[in-house]
Amino acid sequence: MKVSHDICCYCGGCVGICPQNALELDERVLKVDKNKCVECGLCVKFCPVGALEGERK
Ligand code: SF4
Ligand code: SF4
Repeated sequence: MKVSHDICCYCGGCVGICPQNALELDERVLKVDKNKCVECGLCVKFCPVGALEGERK
């Protein structure tokens, strides 16, 4: 999963919905732990501004 940092408004909503706890809001940067993310696509659907993009292989 990929974050468009110029679009993300740091609402933090996606952090709470990730079942893998792969998302972390660190000050003003949304971080994705690639080792935890399983590309389930939940956060991609959830983000209200479309800042997340799946990278399903
Ligand atoms: S795609 Fe799924 S596992 Fe990966 S960060 Fe988003 S919600 Fe978490
Ligand atoms: S839900 Fe979207 S706008 Fe909100 S923190 Fe996550 S990526 Fe950023």
